[in-house]
Amino acid sequence: MNFDDTPQEAAFRAEAKAWIATNAPKQYEEELKKASLGRTQLKGANILEVAKAWQKKKAEAGWACLHWPKEYGGRGATPIETMMAYAGEEQKRKYLPPLASGEKIWCQLFSEPAGGSDVAGLRTRAERNGDDWIINGQKIWTSGAHYSDYGILLTRTDPNVPKHKGLTMFFLDMKSPGVEIKPIKQANGQSEFNEVYFTDVKIPDAQRLGAVNDGWNVSLTTLMNERMSIGAGVATGFPELFEFCNNLMLEDGPAIDDRSVRSKLANWAVKASGLKYTSMRAISALSKGERPGPENSIGKLVAGSMIQDVATYALDLQGAAGVLSGPEDAEAAGKFQAMLLRAPGTRVEGGTDEIMRNIIAERVLGLPGDIRVDKDVAFNKIPTRGRG
Ligand SMILES: Cc1cc2nc3c(=O)[nH]c(=O)nc-3n(C[C@H](O)[C@H](O)[C@H](O)COP(=O)(O)OP(=O)(O)OC[C@H]3O[C@@H](n4cnc5c(N)ncnc54)[C@H](O)[C@@H]3O)c2cc1C
Repeated sequence: MNFDDTPQEAAFRAEAKAWIATNAPKQYEEELKKASLGRTQLKGANILEVAKAWQKKKAEAGWACLHWPKEYGGRGATPIETMMAYAGEEQKRKYLPPLASGEKIWCQLFSEPAGGSDVAGLRTRAERNGDDWIINGQKIWTSGAHYSDYGILLTRTDPNVPKHKGLTMFFLDMKSPGVEIKPIKQANGQSEFNEVYFTDVKIPDAQRLGAVNDGWNVSLTTLMNERMSIGAGVATGFPELFEFCNNLMLEDGPAIDDRSVRSKLANWAVKASGLKYTSMRAISALSKGERPGPENSIGKLVAGSMIQDVATYALDLQGAAGVLSGPEDAEAAGKFQAMLLRAPGTRVEGGTDEIMRNIIAERVLGLPGDIRVDKDVAFNKIPTRGRG
């Protein structure tokens, strides 16, 4: 980790700060502060439109997707690899600039009812038909599919080889004939993710990302970047809890003067600092041109459970009033209630706690691997009930 800015880095930092100070849509700041962590709605505006406009503004000024090359809508800052690592030149020029500017939104179609943690167990089939592929199957938990323009799609192209070896990645227009999207209602009342059904959906071979049957490697690039972004950007709830305790009166005085409250806050302050510096270490590595590695799983694992613990504690402090929800009725505008309902999702999306622990054990600590009895068995020979 290196915190000493070079003169160029210091100038870049100052330029970024000045641009944000002048251009950020500050009118939403107060509302978003209250609405964050599980409830992201705005009263007088559509949050998706606000987000798209902000992304467009950043892109026009060269502040979106900083690490992307300029010709694809970025700033040419430092290298990182996702779709860019595998798409052809023509496709990159066509699809990446509107992605960077927020005009076109993409979703990630990986998980299935039979392939979540074990995503390589997925069953959605892609069968070659001349210059096209025909897709049949079902995805689930697809965030944002209902407002996405495009999706990256992991499919099974060869069931006769072990499960990791017969997968291929594509991208597709979400409005393609045969794609059906059904939103899933969540505990917090929102519908952030969906079931997506594919019936004879046609995808041109030109929309294949990477080689046929190399989809596992392509998906790993995406997942590592996703875990990095979830781990680095996820809220911990600590600043909100600290502020809450600063203002809360308990029966025998201000919460912030209570010894047990202070002890809890101190422990979480240490954890929040650990997370901050772990993510900075990862950012330092990225700035040197290294790929996000498995150690990013640490940030996601720790932040996911921390936010749940913090929200639970804040509700405990609220006593009977903790069961109230909604910005009008609950303490702190219902922030911690919303946080608690969203927290389990954070611990599951992008890989569950157990999967993060497996990654850390095997790839960071070098411990013996999990038992994977089906690893070398042809996918269609793995015993299962009701294979489609
Ligand atoms: C908010 C949210 C957004 C999401 N967005 C997307 C998206 O946009 N696109 C997408 O493709 N998917 C998305 N997902 C799906 C997500 O990636 C999966 O839910 C996740 O990988 C877990 O898979 P599963 O739900 O099938 O659980 P399962 O894999 O069935 O796991 C069930 C339980 O078994 C445990 N388990 C499984 N395998 C092991 C093992 N080897 N060792 C120990 N324990 C194990 C798990 O930890 C878990 O507790 C999203 C999920 C959420 C919650």
